[in-house]
Amino acid sequence: SDGDHVPALVIGTGYGGAVTALRLTQAGIATAMVEMGMAWTTAGSDGKVFCDMLNPDQRSYWLRTTTDQPVGYFLGINVNKSITRYTGVLDSEKFAGIRVYQGRGVGGGSLVNGGMAVVPKRDYFAQILPSVDVASMYDTYFPRANAGLGVNAIDTAWFETADCYRFARVSRDQAKASGYTTTFLNNVYDFGYMKQEQASTVPRSALASEVIYGNNYGKRSLDKTYLAAAAATGRLSITAQHVVTAVTPAAAGGYSVTMNQIDTSGATVATKTVRADRVFFAAGSVGTSKLLVAMRAQGKLPDLPAAVGQGWGNNGNVMVARAQHIWNTTGALESGMPAMGIDNWADTAGPVFAEIAPFPAGTELWISLYLAITKNPNRAAFTFNTSTGAVDLSWRTAQNQPAIDAAKRVFDKINSAQATVYRSDLFGSNKVWGDDLTYHPLGGCILNQATDNYGRLTGYPGLYVMDGSLIPGSTGVNPFVTITALAERNIEKILATDI
Ligand code: FAD
Repeated sequence: SDGDHVPALVIGTGYGGAVTALRLTQAGIATAMVEMGMAWTTAGSDGKVFCDMLNPDQRSYWLRTTTDQPVGYFLGINVNKSITRYTGVLDSEKFAGIRVYQGRGVGGGSLVNGGMAVVPKRDYFAQILPSVDVASMYDTYFPRANAGLGVNAIDTAWFETADCYRFARVSRDQAKASGYTTTFLNNVYDFGYMKQEQASTVPRSALASEVIYGNNYGKRSLDKTYLAAAAATGRLSITAQHVVTAVTPAAAGGYSVTMNQIDTSGATVATKTVRADRVFFAAGSVGTSKLLVAMRAQGKLPDLPAAVGQGWGNNGNVMVARAQHIWNTTGALESGMPAMGIDNWADTAGPVFAEIAPFPAGTELWISLYLAITKNPNRAAFTFNTSTGAVDLSWRTAQNQPAIDAAKRVFDKINSAQATVYRSDLFGSNKVWGDDLTYHPLGGCILNQATDNYGRLTGYPGLYVMDGSLIPGSTGVNPFVTITALAERNIEKILATDI
Protein backbone atom coordinates (compact mmCIF):
# COMPACT_ATOMS: atom_id res chain seq x y z
CA SER A 1 0.00 0.00 0.00
CA ASP A 2 0.89 3.65 -0.34
CA GLY A 3 4.07 4.64 1.47
CA ASP A 4 5.36 1.07 1.91
CA HIS A 5 9.06 0.25 1.81
CA VAL A 6 9.95 -3.12 0.25
CA PRO A 7 13.30 -4.80 -0.38
CA ALA A 8 12.39 -5.99 -3.88
CA LEU A 9 9.66 -4.97 -6.29
CA VAL A 10 8.96 -6.79 -9.55
CA ILE A 11 6.95 -5.00 -12.25
CA GLY A 12 4.94 -7.61 -14.17
CA THR A 13 4.12 -11.26 -13.51
CA GLY A 14 5.05 -12.91 -16.84
CA TYR A 15 8.04 -15.20 -17.41
CA GLY A 16 10.84 -12.82 -16.45
CA GLY A 17 8.96 -11.64 -13.40
CA ALA A 18 7.92 -15.09 -12.21
CA VAL A 19 11.47 -16.46 -12.37
CA THR A 20 12.74 -13.40 -10.51
CA ALA A 21 10.10 -13.72 -7.80
CA LEU A 22 10.75 -17.42 -7.21
CA ARG A 23 14.51 -17.09 -6.92
CA LEU A 24 14.34 -13.95 -4.73
CA THR A 25 11.81 -15.46 -2.33
CA GLN A 26 13.74 -18.73 -2.15
CA ALA A 27 16.79 -16.67 -1.18
CA GLY A 28 14.80 -15.26 1.73
CA ILE A 29 13.93 -11.89 0.23
CA ALA A 30 10.40 -10.57 0.67
CA THR A 31 9.22 -9.73 -2.82
CA ALA A 32 6.35 -7.54 -3.98
CA MET A 33 4.98 -8.02 -7.48
CA VAL A 34 2.83 -5.41 -9.21
CA GLU A 35 0.64 -6.49 -12.14
CA MET A 36 -1.64 -4.27 -14.24
CA GLY A 37 -3.96 -7.13 -15.21
CA MET A 38 -6.35 -9.11 -13.04
CA ALA A 39 -5.73 -12.12 -10.83
CA TRP A 40 -7.67 -14.63 -12.90
CA THR A 41 -9.04 -16.75 -10.07
CA THR A 42 -12.77 -15.95 -9.94
CA ALA A 43 -15.32 -17.71 -12.12
CA GLY A 44 -17.86 -15.69 -14.09
CA SER A 45 -21.59 -16.34 -14.18
CA ASP A 46 -20.97 -19.28 -16.54
CA GLY A 47 -18.87 -20.97 -13.85
CA LYS A 48 -15.65 -20.43 -15.79
CA VAL A 49 -12.73 -18.10 -15.21
CA PHE A 50 -12.00 -17.63 -18.92
CA CYS A 51 -14.19 -17.46 -22.02
CA ASP A 52 -13.50 -19.51 -25.14
CA MET A 53 -12.58 -18.32 -28.62
CA LEU A 54 -15.99 -18.99 -30.11
CA ASN A 55 -17.89 -16.90 -27.56
CA PRO A 56 -15.63 -14.02 -26.58
CA ASP A 57 -17.12 -11.76 -23.91
CA GLN A 58 -15.71 -8.94 -21.77
CA ARG A 59 -13.10 -11.31 -20.32
CA SER A 60 -11.41 -11.69 -23.71
CA TYR A 61 -9.82 -8.29 -24.40
CA TRP A 62 -7.99 -5.61 -22.51
CA LEU A 63 -10.11 -2.44 -22.53
CA ARG A 64 -11.75 -2.75 -25.93
CA THR A 65 -15.37 -2.42 -27.06
CA THR A 66 -14.89 -4.83 -29.97
CA THR A 67 -12.82 -7.99 -30.17
CA ASP A 68 -9.65 -7.84 -32.30
CA GLN A 69 -9.14 -11.46 -33.28
CA PRO A 70 -5.74 -12.28 -34.77
CA VAL A 71 -7.65 -13.96 -37.59
CA GLY A 72 -10.34 -11.31 -37.75
CA TYR A 73 -12.09 -12.03 -41.04
CA PHE A 74 -13.95 -14.86 -42.72
CA LEU A 75 -14.87 -14.76 -46.41
CA GLY A 76 -13.39 -11.26 -46.28
CA ILE A 77 -15.92 -10.09 -43.72
CA ASN A 78 -14.87 -8.70 -40.35
CA VAL A 79 -16.10 -11.21 -37.77
CA ASN A 80 -15.19 -9.24 -34.65
CA LYS A 81 -17.99 -8.54 -32.21
CA SER A 82 -18.95 -5.97 -29.61
CA ILE A 83 -17.88 -6.57 -26.03
CA THR A 84 -18.12 -4.62 -22.79
CA ARG A 85 -14.98 -2.63 -22.03
CA TYR A 86 -13.20 -4.56 -19.28
CA THR A 87 -9.71 -5.46 -18.12
CA GLY A 88 -9.76 -8.69 -20.14
CA VAL A 89 -6.86 -11.10 -20.47
CA LEU A 90 -5.59 -10.44 -24.01
CA ASP A 91 -4.29 -7.07 -25.09
CA SER A 92 -4.00 -6.16 -28.75
CA GLU A 93 -1.81 -3.10 -28.35
CA LYS A 94 -1.87 -0.98 -31.46
CA PHE A 95 1.18 0.89 -32.70
CA ALA A 96 1.41 2.72 -36.05
CA GLY A 97 2.60 -0.36 -38.00
CA ILE A 98 1.75 -3.39 -35.89
CA ARG A 99 -0.66 -4.86 -33.36
CA VAL A 100 1.25 -6.48 -30.50
CA TYR A 101 -0.68 -9.22 -28.68
CA GLN A 102 0.17 -9.64 -24.99
CA GLY A 103 -1.30 -11.33 -21.94
CA ARG A 104 -2.67 -9.18 -19.11
CA GLY A 105 -3.07 -10.71 -15.70
CA VAL A 106 -1.19 -12.58 -13.02
CA GLY A 107 0.88 -14.92 -15.19
CA GLY A 108 1.34 -12.51 -18.13
CA GLY A 109 1.62 -14.18 -21.51
CA SER A 110 1.38 -17.66 -19.97
CA LEU A 111 -2.37 -17.15 -19.54
CA VAL A 112 -3.08 -16.64 -23.24
CA ASN A 113 -0.30 -18.31 -25.17
CA GLY A 114 -0.21 -21.61 -27.05
CA GLY A 115 2.07 -23.16 -24.45
CA MET A 116 4.68 -24.22 -27.00
CA ALA A 117 7.93 -24.66 -25.14
CA VAL A 118 10.72 -24.62 -27.69
CA VAL A 119 14.43 -24.38 -26.94
CA PRO A 120 16.13 -22.24 -29.61
CA LYS A 121 18.72 -23.72 -31.93
CA ARG A 122 22.08 -23.58 -30.24
CA ASP A 123 24.04 -21.92 -33.02
CA TYR A 124 21.33 -19.32 -33.55
CA PHE A 125 21.18 -18.52 -29.85
CA ALA A 126 24.96 -18.01 -29.92
CA GLN A 127 24.52 -15.58 -32.83
CA ILE A 128 21.79 -13.46 -31.26
CA LEU A 129 23.31 -13.24 -27.77
CA PRO A 130 27.07 -13.53 -28.34
CA SER A 131 27.96 -12.28 -24.86
CA VAL A 132 26.20 -15.20 -23.15
CA ASP A 133 28.05 -18.43 -22.39
CA VAL A 134 26.19 -20.92 -24.58
CA ALA A 135 27.30 -24.10 -22.81
CA SER A 136 25.89 -22.99 -19.46
CA MET A 137 22.60 -22.05 -21.12
CA TYR A 138 22.16 -25.48 -22.69
CA ASP A 139 23.60 -27.46 -19.77
CA THR A 140 21.96 -25.58 -16.93
CA TYR A 141 19.48 -22.81 -17.65
CA PHE A 142 17.35 -24.26 -20.45
CA PRO A 143 16.87 -27.51 -18.48
CA ARG A 144 16.12 -25.47 -15.34
CA ALA A 145 13.55 -23.41 -17.25
CA ASN A 146 11.87 -26.49 -18.73
CA ALA A 147 11.64 -28.08 -15.28
CA GLY A 148 10.26 -24.93 -13.66
CA LEU A 149 7.70 -24.45 -16.43
CA GLY A 150 6.41 -28.03 -16.30
CA VAL A 151 7.20 -28.73 -19.95
CA ASN A 152 5.98 -32.09 -21.28
CA ALA A 153 6.19 -34.00 -24.55
CA ILE A 154 3.27 -35.34 -26.52
CA ASP A 155 2.72 -39.12 -26.78
CA THR A 156 3.59 -39.43 -30.45
CA ALA A 157 1.61 -42.66 -30.94
CA TRP A 158 -1.49 -40.97 -29.52
CA PHE A 159 -0.89 -37.97 -31.79
CA GLU A 160 -1.22 -40.26 -34.82
CA THR A 161 -4.72 -41.35 -33.85
CA ALA A 162 -6.22 -38.37 -31.97
CA ASP A 163 -9.05 -36.59 -33.79
CA CYS A 164 -7.92 -33.27 -32.34
CA TYR A 165 -4.58 -33.42 -34.19
CA ARG A 166 -5.90 -34.39 -37.59
CA PHE A 167 -5.25 -30.78 -38.69
CA ALA A 168 -1.58 -31.14 -37.74
CA ARG A 169 -1.16 -34.52 -39.43
CA VAL A 170 -2.59 -33.20 -42.69
CA SER A 171 -0.18 -30.24 -42.67
CA ARG A 172 2.72 -32.47 -41.70
CA ASP A 173 2.11 -34.98 -44.46
CA GLN A 174 1.87 -32.22 -47.04
CA ALA A 175 5.04 -30.51 -45.79
CA LYS A 176 6.90 -33.81 -45.94
CA ALA A 177 5.67 -34.44 -49.46
CA SER A 178 7.35 -31.14 -50.41
CA GLY A 179 10.62 -32.16 -48.80
CA TYR A 180 10.28 -30.28 -45.52
CA THR A 181 11.16 -31.58 -42.08
CA THR A 182 8.59 -31.44 -39.30
CA THR A 183 9.18 -31.67 -35.59
CA PHE A 184 7.07 -32.31 -32.51
CA LEU A 185 6.90 -29.36 -30.12
CA ASN A 186 6.89 -29.66 -26.36
CA ASN A 187 4.23 -27.77 -24.45
CA VAL A 188 3.30 -26.70 -20.94
CA TYR A 189 -0.26 -27.90 -21.50
CA ASP A 190 -0.66 -31.25 -19.74
CA PHE A 191 -0.89 -33.71 -22.63
CA GLY A 192 -2.10 -36.38 -20.20
CA TYR A 193 -5.09 -34.17 -19.42
CA MET A 194 -5.64 -33.58 -23.13
CA LYS A 195 -5.82 -37.31 -23.74
CA GLN A 196 -8.61 -37.48 -21.18
CA GLU A 197 -10.34 -34.58 -22.93
CA GLN A 198 -10.20 -36.49 -26.19
CA ALA A 199 -11.68 -39.50 -24.35
CA SER A 200 -14.39 -37.23 -22.86
CA THR A 201 -13.59 -38.21 -19.27
CA VAL A 202 -12.77 -34.67 -18.02
CA PRO A 203 -14.03 -31.15 -18.78
CA ARG A 204 -12.56 -29.90 -22.02
CA SER A 205 -10.29 -26.88 -22.38
CA ALA A 206 -7.77 -27.25 -25.22
CA LEU A 207 -10.46 -29.30 -26.96
CA ALA A 208 -13.13 -26.67 -26.22
CA SER A 209 -11.60 -23.88 -28.33
CA GLU A 210 -9.83 -22.38 -25.34
CA VAL A 211 -6.45 -20.76 -25.76
CA ILE A 212 -5.88 -17.07 -26.55
CA TYR A 213 -8.44 -15.86 -23.98
CA GLY A 214 -7.16 -18.28 -21.34
CA ASN A 215 -7.52 -21.97 -20.50
CA ASN A 216 -9.82 -23.18 -17.75
CA TYR A 217 -8.07 -26.55 -17.37
CA GLY A 218 -4.95 -28.39 -18.40
CA LYS A 219 -2.49 -25.56 -18.83
CA ARG A 220 0.48 -25.10 -16.54
CA SER A 221 0.47 -21.33 -16.69
CA LEU A 222 2.90 -19.43 -14.45
CA ASP A 223 0.33 -18.98 -11.67
CA LYS A 224 0.43 -22.79 -11.33
CA THR A 225 4.23 -23.17 -11.59
CA TYR A 226 6.79 -20.46 -10.81
CA LEU A 227 4.39 -18.08 -9.07
CA ALA A 228 2.78 -20.84 -7.00
CA ALA A 229 6.23 -21.98 -5.87
CA ALA A 230 7.19 -18.42 -4.97
CA ALA A 231 3.95 -17.97 -3.01
CA ALA A 232 4.65 -21.19 -1.12
CA THR A 233 7.75 -19.58 0.42
CA GLY A 234 5.44 -17.18 2.28
CA ARG A 235 7.54 -14.24 1.09
CA LEU A 236 5.58 -13.20 -2.00
CA SER A 237 2.90 -10.58 -2.37
CA ILE A 238 1.16 -9.92 -5.68
CA THR A 239 -0.83 -6.74 -6.18
CA ALA A 240 -3.02 -6.99 -9.28
CA GLN A 241 -4.83 -4.22 -11.18
CA HIS A 242 -2.04 -1.72 -10.50
CA VAL A 243 -0.25 -0.07 -13.42
CA VAL A 244 3.27 1.16 -12.71
CA THR A 245 3.67 4.63 -14.19
CA ALA A 246 7.00 5.90 -12.82
CA VAL A 247 10.27 4.76 -11.28
CA THR A 248 12.81 7.30 -10.02
CA PRO A 249 15.59 7.38 -7.41
CA ALA A 250 14.20 8.02 -3.92
CA ALA A 251 15.78 10.59 -1.63
CA ALA A 252 15.83 8.04 1.21
CA GLY A 253 17.65 5.48 -0.98
CA GLY A 254 16.42 2.93 -3.46
CA TYR A 255 13.67 3.89 -5.87
CA SER A 256 10.19 5.30 -5.65
CA VAL A 257 7.69 3.43 -7.73
CA THR A 258 4.41 5.13 -8.59
CA MET A 259 1.37 3.18 -9.70
CA ASN A 260 -2.28 3.64 -10.55
CA GLN A 261 -4.79 1.25 -9.08
CA ILE A 262 -7.44 0.63 -11.73
CA ASP A 263 -10.93 -0.83 -11.72
CA THR A 264 -12.24 -3.27 -14.32
CA SER A 265 -13.19 -0.41 -16.65
CA GLY A 266 -9.58 0.77 -16.63
CA ALA A 267 -10.34 3.90 -14.60
CA THR A 268 -7.81 4.98 -11.97
CA VAL A 269 -9.25 4.68 -8.48
CA ALA A 270 -6.09 5.46 -6.48
CA THR A 271 -2.48 6.47 -7.00
CA LYS A 272 0.20 5.03 -4.74
CA THR A 273 3.92 5.41 -4.30
CA VAL A 274 6.12 2.82 -2.63
CA ARG A 275 9.86 2.73 -2.04
CA ALA A 276 11.87 -0.31 -3.14
CA ASP A 277 15.54 -1.07 -2.58
CA ARG A 278 15.60 -2.95 -5.87
CA VAL A 279 13.27 -2.83 -8.84
CA PHE A 280 13.05 -5.58 -11.45
CA PHE A 281 11.47 -4.56 -14.76
CA ALA A 282 9.52 -7.56 -16.06
CA ALA A 283 6.66 -5.81 -17.83
CA GLY A 284 7.48 -7.56 -21.13
CA SER A 285 9.31 -6.24 -24.17
CA VAL A 286 6.73 -3.53 -24.78
CA GLY A 287 5.89 -2.73 -21.16
CA THR A 288 9.47 -2.45 -19.94
CA SER A 289 10.67 -0.53 -23.00
CA LYS A 290 7.79 1.94 -22.77
CA LEU A 291 8.41 2.59 -19.08
CA LEU A 292 12.16 3.05 -19.40
CA VAL A 293 11.96 5.26 -22.52
CA ALA A 294 9.37 7.45 -20.79
CA MET A 295 11.42 7.67 -17.57
CA ARG A 296 14.49 8.77 -19.51
CA ALA A 297 12.56 11.37 -21.52
CA GLN A 298 10.78 12.73 -18.45
CA GLY A 299 14.04 13.10 -16.52
CA LYS A 300 13.10 10.46 -13.91
CA LEU A 301 15.90 8.14 -15.01
CA PRO A 302 17.85 10.59 -17.20
CA ASP A 303 21.09 8.60 -17.30
CA LEU A 304 19.64 5.53 -19.00
CA PRO A 305 21.78 4.75 -22.05
CA ALA A 306 20.74 5.57 -25.63
CA ALA A 307 20.41 1.82 -26.30
CA VAL A 308 17.26 1.73 -24.13
CA GLY A 309 14.34 1.62 -26.59
CA GLN A 310 16.40 0.20 -29.46
CA GLY A 311 16.53 -3.14 -31.22
CA TRP A 312 12.89 -4.19 -31.14
CA GLY A 313 11.71 -6.98 -33.43
CA ASN A 314 8.70 -9.25 -33.91
CA ASN A 315 10.59 -12.55 -34.08
CA GLY A 316 9.93 -12.52 -37.82
CA ASN A 317 6.25 -13.39 -37.24
CA VAL A 318 3.86 -13.70 -40.14
CA MET A 319 0.62 -15.70 -40.37
CA VAL A 320 -0.81 -17.44 -43.39
CA ALA A 321 -3.46 -20.03 -44.21
CA ARG A 322 -4.00 -22.54 -47.02
CA ALA A 323 -7.29 -23.85 -48.36
CA GLN A 324 -7.46 -27.64 -48.42
CA HIS A 325 -9.26 -29.73 -51.00
CA ILE A 326 -12.66 -31.06 -49.97
CA TRP A 327 -11.23 -34.57 -49.43
CA ASN A 328 -8.47 -33.33 -47.11
CA THR A 329 -10.51 -32.62 -44.00
CA THR A 330 -8.69 -30.89 -41.15
CA GLY A 331 -11.26 -32.01 -38.56
CA ALA A 332 -14.09 -30.32 -36.70
CA LEU A 333 -12.27 -30.87 -33.41
CA GLU A 334 -8.89 -29.11 -33.17
CA SER A 335 -6.75 -28.90 -30.06
CA GLY A 336 -6.02 -25.27 -29.21
CA MET A 337 -2.47 -26.30 -28.36
CA PRO A 338 -0.09 -26.67 -31.32
CA ALA A 339 2.10 -29.77 -31.23
CA MET A 340 4.09 -29.65 -34.44
CA GLY A 341 6.18 -27.32 -36.56
CA ILE A 342 7.75 -27.23 -40.01
CA ASP A 343 11.46 -26.71 -39.49
CA ASN A 344 13.15 -25.12 -42.49
CA TRP A 345 15.50 -22.97 -40.39
CA ALA A 346 18.62 -24.47 -41.94
CA ASP A 347 17.68 -22.99 -45.32
CA THR A 348 20.00 -20.00 -45.48
CA ALA A 349 18.02 -18.48 -48.37
CA GLY A 350 15.15 -17.82 -45.96
CA PRO A 351 15.00 -19.60 -42.60
CA VAL A 352 11.45 -20.49 -41.50
CA PHE A 353 10.19 -22.25 -38.41
CA ALA A 354 6.44 -22.55 -38.90
CA GLU A 355 4.07 -23.62 -36.19
CA ILE A 356 1.19 -25.67 -37.54
CA ALA A 357 -1.44 -23.57 -35.81
CA PRO A 358 -4.91 -24.70 -34.81
CA PHE A 359 -8.04 -23.03 -36.14
CA PRO A 360 -10.43 -24.31 -33.48
CA ALA A 361 -13.73 -23.18 -35.00
CA GLY A 362 -15.67 -26.24 -33.84
CA THR A 363 -16.60 -27.15 -37.40
CA GLU A 364 -14.85 -28.46 -40.49
CA LEU A 365 -13.31 -25.59 -42.42
CA TRP A 366 -10.63 -27.21 -44.63
CA ILE A 367 -8.18 -24.54 -43.42
CA SER A 368 -4.51 -25.05 -42.59
CA LEU A 369 -3.16 -22.14 -40.56
CA TYR A 370 0.48 -21.37 -39.82
CA LEU A 371 2.40 -18.95 -37.64
CA ALA A 372 5.77 -18.60 -39.33
CA ILE A 373 8.82 -17.45 -37.41
CA THR A 374 11.43 -16.09 -39.81
CA LYS A 375 14.80 -14.39 -39.64
CA ASN A 376 13.53 -10.91 -40.51
CA PRO A 377 16.54 -8.59 -39.97
CA ASN A 378 14.44 -5.43 -39.59
CA ARG A 379 14.28 -3.72 -36.21
CA ALA A 380 12.44 -0.76 -34.72
CA ALA A 381 12.79 1.66 -31.80
CA PHE A 382 10.57 3.04 -29.04
CA THR A 383 10.55 6.82 -28.70
CA PHE A 384 8.80 9.22 -26.36
CA ASN A 385 6.26 11.41 -28.12
CA THR A 386 6.32 14.75 -26.35
CA SER A 387 3.07 15.93 -27.92
CA THR A 388 0.97 12.90 -26.91
CA GLY A 389 2.93 11.80 -23.85
CA ALA A 390 2.84 8.25 -25.22
CA VAL A 391 5.68 6.00 -26.32
CA ASP A 392 5.64 5.22 -30.05
CA LEU A 393 7.12 2.23 -31.84
CA SER A 394 8.73 3.01 -35.21
CA TRP A 395 7.91 -0.38 -36.81
CA ARG A 396 6.25 -0.06 -40.24
CA THR A 397 4.14 -2.87 -41.70
CA ALA A 398 6.37 -2.90 -44.80
CA GLN A 399 9.28 -4.01 -42.61
CA ASN A 400 7.62 -7.42 -42.52
CA GLN A 401 8.29 -8.07 -46.22
CA PRO A 402 11.36 -10.27 -45.54
CA ALA A 403 9.17 -12.46 -43.32
CA ILE A 404 6.55 -12.79 -46.06
CA ASP A 405 9.23 -13.56 -48.65
CA ALA A 406 10.71 -16.37 -46.55
CA ALA A 407 7.35 -17.91 -45.63
CA LYS A 408 6.14 -17.62 -49.22
CA ARG A 409 8.99 -19.79 -50.48
CA VAL A 410 7.89 -22.63 -48.20
CA PHE A 411 4.14 -22.37 -48.66
CA ASP A 412 4.28 -21.68 -52.41
CA LYS A 413 6.14 -24.96 -52.73
CA ILE A 414 3.62 -26.85 -50.61
CA ASN A 415 0.71 -25.27 -52.48
CA SER A 416 2.20 -26.13 -55.80
CA ALA A 417 2.80 -29.78 -54.83
CA GLN A 418 -0.72 -30.10 -53.41
CA ALA A 419 -2.45 -27.98 -56.06
CA THR A 420 -3.86 -25.84 -53.25
CA VAL A 421 -4.12 -22.06 -52.81
CA TYR A 422 -3.77 -19.52 -50.03
CA ARG A 423 -6.85 -18.35 -48.16
CA SER A 424 -7.06 -14.64 -48.90
CA ASP A 425 -10.16 -13.94 -46.79
CA LEU A 426 -8.95 -14.39 -43.20
CA PHE A 427 -6.69 -11.36 -42.58
CA GLY A 428 -8.86 -8.92 -44.51
CA SER A 429 -10.53 -8.94 -47.87
CA ASN A 430 -8.11 -10.23 -50.50
CA LYS A 431 -5.23 -10.32 -48.06
CA VAL A 432 -3.08 -13.46 -47.86
CA TRP A 433 -0.55 -12.48 -45.21
CA GLY A 434 -1.19 -11.70 -41.57
CA ASP A 435 1.69 -9.24 -41.53
CA ASP A 436 0.42 -6.51 -39.21
CA LEU A 437 0.41 -8.44 -35.92
CA THR A 438 2.82 -10.25 -33.65
CA TYR A 439 2.63 -12.65 -30.71
CA HIS A 440 6.37 -12.40 -30.08
CA PRO A 441 7.54 -8.88 -29.17
CA LEU A 442 11.24 -9.03 -28.32
CA GLY A 443 13.88 -6.43 -27.53
CA GLY A 444 13.89 -2.76 -26.65
CA CYS A 445 16.35 -3.18 -23.81
CA ILE A 446 18.94 -5.56 -25.16
CA LEU A 447 21.28 -7.56 -22.99
CA ASN A 448 24.85 -6.28 -22.95
CA GLN A 449 23.76 -3.13 -24.85
CA ALA A 450 21.08 -1.32 -22.85
CA THR A 451 21.99 -3.34 -19.75
CA ASP A 452 25.14 -5.11 -18.66
CA ASN A 453 25.58 -8.81 -19.46
CA TYR A 454 23.14 -9.79 -16.66
CA GLY A 455 20.32 -7.29 -17.10
CA ARG A 456 21.61 -4.59 -14.74
CA LEU A 457 20.86 -0.98 -15.69
CA THR A 458 24.34 -0.01 -14.60
CA GLY A 459 23.78 3.74 -14.21
CA TYR A 460 21.18 2.92 -11.57
CA PRO A 461 22.35 0.33 -9.05
CA GLY A 462 19.42 -1.83 -8.00
CA LEU A 463 17.50 -1.54 -11.29
CA TYR A 464 17.30 -4.67 -13.45
CA VAL A 465 15.60 -5.81 -16.66
CA MET A 466 14.42 -9.43 -16.60
CA ASP A 467 12.03 -10.08 -19.53
CA GLY A 468 11.73 -10.43 -23.29
CA SER A 469 13.05 -6.91 -23.84
CA LEU A 470 16.58 -8.32 -23.30
CA ILE A 471 16.38 -10.48 -26.44
CA PRO A 472 17.43 -8.70 -29.65
CA GLY A 473 14.24 -9.02 -31.70
CA SER A 474 14.51 -12.66 -32.67
CA THR A 475 15.09 -16.07 -31.16
CA GLY A 476 14.08 -18.28 -34.09
CA VAL A 477 11.43 -20.20 -32.14
CA ASN A 478 8.52 -19.35 -29.84
CA PRO A 479 10.22 -17.25 -27.17
CA PHE A 480 9.07 -18.02 -23.63
CA VAL A 481 11.60 -20.78 -22.88
CA THR A 482 14.41 -18.44 -23.99
CA ILE A 483 13.03 -15.64 -21.80
CA THR A 484 12.69 -17.99 -18.82
CA ALA A 485 16.16 -19.49 -19.18
CA LEU A 486 17.84 -16.11 -19.59
CA ALA A 487 16.03 -14.84 -16.48
CA GLU A 488 17.23 -17.94 -14.57
CA ARG A 489 20.80 -17.19 -15.63
CA ASN A 490 20.64 -13.50 -14.77
CA ILE A 491 18.91 -13.77 -11.40
CA GLU A 492 21.40 -16.42 -10.28
CA LYS A 493 24.25 -14.00 -10.94
CA ILE A 494 22.43 -11.04 -9.39
CA LEU A 495 21.65 -13.02 -6.23
CA ALA A 496 25.24 -14.20 -5.96
CA THR A 497 26.89 -10.82 -6.43
CA ASP A 498 24.48 -7.97 -5.69
CA ILE A 499 22.23 -9.12 -2.89
P1 FAD B 1 4.88 -11.03 -20.36
O1 FAD B 1 4.60 -12.47 -20.26
O2 FAD B 1 4.18 -10.23 -21.41
O3 FAD B 1 4.58 -10.39 -18.92
C1 FAD B 1 4.61 -9.00 -18.69
C2 FAD B 1 3.57 -8.68 -17.63
O4 FAD B 1 3.76 -7.34 -17.19
C3 FAD B 1 2.13 -8.75 -18.14
O5 FAD B 1 1.37 -9.54 -17.25
C4 FAD B 1 1.67 -7.30 -18.16
O6 FAD B 1 0.28 -7.16 -17.91
C5 FAD B 1 2.51 -6.68 -17.05
N1 FAD B 1 2.74 -5.25 -17.22
C6 FAD B 1 3.12 -4.59 -18.34
N2 FAD B 1 3.28 -3.28 -18.10
C7 FAD B 1 3.00 -3.10 -16.78
C8 FAD B 1 2.98 -1.95 -15.94
N3 FAD B 1 3.32 -0.73 -16.39
N4 FAD B 1 2.61 -2.12 -14.64
C9 FAD B 1 2.29 -3.35 -14.16
N5 FAD B 1 2.30 -4.47 -14.93
C10 FAD B 1 2.66 -4.34 -16.22
N6 FAD B 1 5.47 -18.00 -26.69
C11 FAD B 1 5.92 -19.26 -26.69
O7 FAD B 1 7.08 -19.51 -26.36
N7 FAD B 1 5.09 -20.30 -27.05
C12 FAD B 1 3.81 -20.09 -27.45
O8 FAD B 1 3.07 -21.04 -27.75
C13 FAD B 1 3.32 -18.76 -27.49
N8 FAD B 1 2.06 -18.48 -27.92
C14 FAD B 1 1.58 -17.20 -27.82
C15 FAD B 1 0.25 -16.94 -28.13
C16 FAD B 1 -0.27 -15.67 -27.94
C17 FAD B 1 -1.71 -15.40 -28.28
C18 FAD B 1 0.55 -14.63 -27.42
C19 FAD B 1 0.01 -13.25 -27.19
C20 FAD B 1 1.87 -14.88 -27.12
C21 FAD B 1 2.40 -16.15 -27.32
N9 FAD B 1 3.73 -16.44 -26.99
C22 FAD B 1 4.19 -17.72 -27.06
C23 FAD B 1 4.65 -15.38 -26.53
C24 FAD B 1 4.89 -15.41 -25.02
O9 FAD B 1 3.68 -15.47 -24.32
C25 FAD B 1 5.69 -14.14 -24.64
O10 FAD B 1 6.91 -14.17 -25.34
C26 FAD B 1 5.97 -14.05 -23.16
O11 FAD B 1 4.79 -14.03 -22.41
C27 FAD B 1 6.81 -12.83 -22.82
O12 FAD B 1 7.25 -12.95 -21.49
P2 FAD B 1 7.73 -11.68 -20.67
O13 FAD B 1 8.16 -12.13 -19.34
O14 FAD B 1 8.70 -10.91 -21.50
O15 FAD B 1 6.44 -10.73 -20.56
